[in-house]
Amino acid sequence: MEEREFSQEIIDKFPSEEIDRITALMKEQLEIRDRKYHFKKYSSCFLGRDMVNWLLENGYAANVEEALDVGNYLMSKDVFHHVCRDHPLKNQKLYYIFESDEKDRGHLPESEKPASWQDVLQEQDGKLLSGEEVNDVLASLSDWPDKNPEMSELLVDNHNRELLDNCRPLNWQDPEATQKYDLIAIGGGAGGLVSSIGAAISGGRAALIERNIMGGDCLNTGCVPSKAFIKAAKVAQTVRNSEKYGIMFEGELKVDFGKVMERMRKVRAEISEHDSVYKFIKKYGIDMYLGDAKFINKNEIEVNGQTLQIAKCSIATGGHPYVPEIAGLSDFPYLTSENVFNITEQPRHLVIIGVGPIGCELGQSFARFGTKVTMISRGNQFLPKEDPDAASYLHQSLKDDGVTILFNAEPTKVDVLNSTGKVWTPEARFEMEVLVNGIPETIQGDSILIAAGRRPNVHGLGLEEAGVDYDEIKGIHVNDYCKTTNKNVYAVGDVCSPYQFTHNSDHMARNVVRNALFFGKEKTSNLIMSWCTYTDPEIAHVGKYPHEMEEKGIKYDTYKYDIAHNDRAICDGEIGIIKIHCKKDTDTILGATIVGGPAGDMICQVSQAMFNKVGLSTMGTVVHPYPTYAEAFKALTGQYNLKKLTPKSKTALRTILNVKR
Ligand SMILES: Cc1cc2nc3c(=O)[nH]c(=O)nc-3n(C[C@H](O)[C@H](O)[C@H](O)COP(=O)(O)OP(=O)(O)OC[C@H]3O[C@@H](n4cnc5c(N)ncnc54)[C@H](O)[C@@H]3O)c2cc1C
Repeated sequence: MEEREFSQEIIDKFPSEEIDRITALMKEQLEIRDRKYHFKKYSSCFLGRDMVNWLLENGYAANVEEALDVGNYLMSKDVFHHVCRDHPLKNQKLYYIFESDEKDRGHLPESEKPASWQDVLQEQDGKLLSGEEVNDVLASLSDWPDKNPEMSELLVDNHNRELLDNCRPLNWQDPEATQKYDLIAIGGGAGGLVSSIGAAISGGRAALIERNIMGGDCLNTGCVPSKAFIKAAKVAQTVRNSEKYGIMFEGELKVDFGKVMERMRKVRAEISEHDSVYKFIKKYGIDMYLGDAKFINKNEIEVNGQTLQIAKCSIATGGHPYVPEIAGLSDFPYLTSENVFNITEQPRHLVIIGVGPIGCELGQSFARFGTKVTMISRGNQFLPKEDPDAASYLHQSLKDDGVTILFNAEPTKVDVLNSTGKVWTPEARFEMEVLVNGIPETIQGDSILIAAGRRPNVHGLGLEEAGVDYDEIKGIHVNDYCKTTNKNVYAVGDVCSPYQFTHNSDHMARNVVRNALFFGKEKTSNLIMSWCTYTDPEIAHVGKYPHEMEEKGIKYDTYKYDIAHNDRAICDGEIGIIKIHCKKDTDTILGATIVGGPAGDMICQVSQAMFNKVGLSTMGTVVHPYPTYAEAFKALTGQYNLKKLTPKSKTALRTILNVKR
């Protein structure tokens, strides 16, 4: 529901004590009872028009309009809400329920202390603690350790406290599992959040189970922190290159890495409100369970000692970094995407194993902050799944950033030269043996980032008990409708899909809501998937790659445009390329790769065209503002139209002109 603004007069008239007082009066005097609508019973509700009358009769408003303002202000203060959360207060026979009469969807018990992360770990402020250390402190503080999560490594500060208060409140009390749920989502990342919201806003009884921190990878260890980190690195690079634009910068460029990371944590904490447990309870009416979910049979899930019954379930347990077996590696406090955003001090020499999107985004950023970066890959191309031309732009850019590149290389051994215990600090030292083209080399450094791919989270979920097939590499086996081998259980996102992106988890979850609850037949294969690697240059792709089309025997034409010819790119000093692949001799777009400029935004235009079945011949006929990168599409449309202009059609055009003359 849209957020409203209220007059200062109303805000002043209803301080919190007054709200408490009149809530008690309203609850005494309004007719609150169970009511039915469309075969469904709504417990303990009252009518909107009765509320309006009560406000008028008791002198809280002079007319209906004022009464609606006051009532909606009380709603904004969580005093009551529409039973399906669909309407603001209306002077109609609509049903509303007081928040205090609402079913418990999970809560913080008022009596127990400490109630918030703001109250704990004060002495450890600014410190990076291992999971064990955090758990020990929590256990020593209370007699309810089993209500708290098994915490992993934590950098203790107020931004992280804010995030945890939103997304992993201390001392959480699950609701009582009394009813069968229309849909239970396992995992509070993009896939689980969207599955549960979809079920709840369609009127279903929905529950969400998260064992760690709401928001999943995207908020905590993925998209959000990495993009905030990359932004700071881009700023450093802009300053470094400012002379190119006639902006002189005297003195030495200084990167305050601690501040970069603090900004990242601040941004993450700010965004964490979107995924907060309270939002899920209050805004969507979803029951929130914070604990490890495990199937005990095909239709029941156990969490924190309670048994939850499912009509349908959406498994969205995501994945974790794959750590290759390298002798001695486990003795060194190596970094992965799960803990790299916890560090506060800048590594001097970072060795990155893996050259996929995560390795490249972070490697380039660290290099731009001034860290010496060495990147190691078994293959010989950055972003191995990407178009080789696109990857070559990134290769050049990383070279320009001073990154040392070891291709056809395999790390074989790590020797710890200086250990810093479980968490990484800049005093750590190692020596790594790497076979480069079969020849041994030795590298010394202070930090290692493992970015060698991801594995699905399939263990400990009771998938065998649920009758859900899976394997360790591809994850849960699903059909095109996201259905698993258990007809009531679906899976979405990183746990089952080769496309490991937030938007993919989101869209698969939307399909699950339709397929599981509303007889839908939405296919994953119909999703037009696009993605972007946020390096400099950005590299974005949608649809098919040439090699995929060749493997399938699909004939195609490729239209290429060097963005060095685009006026906006020239002004900005950007380089890059756009490639659009069309079905042979037609304008039907099958795939596209964009390098440079706002590639991630530009690819959306190609996705839109593909989704709406707009061909390349019409794509560039839309008027675009000048100068924009998107004007490049006009040039590509021009290329297509020119190709269609055969000698025969040219003669026909000439003839028309001659006749007209
Ligand atoms: C460094 C990095 C950068 C990235 N950048 C981008 C980007 O820019 N754009 C993009 O689209 N994608 C990006 N990704 C990928 C994106 O983060 C994931 O694809 C997305 O978060 C997957 O969502 P999900 O819901 O499938 O799983 P997740 O977000 O992993 O959520 C799964 C949740 O399930 C919980 N869980 C697991 N098991 C259980 C259990 N038994 N009981 C209860 N809960 C459980 C986990 O605690 C977790 O919270 C990035 C990833 C990384 C690592």
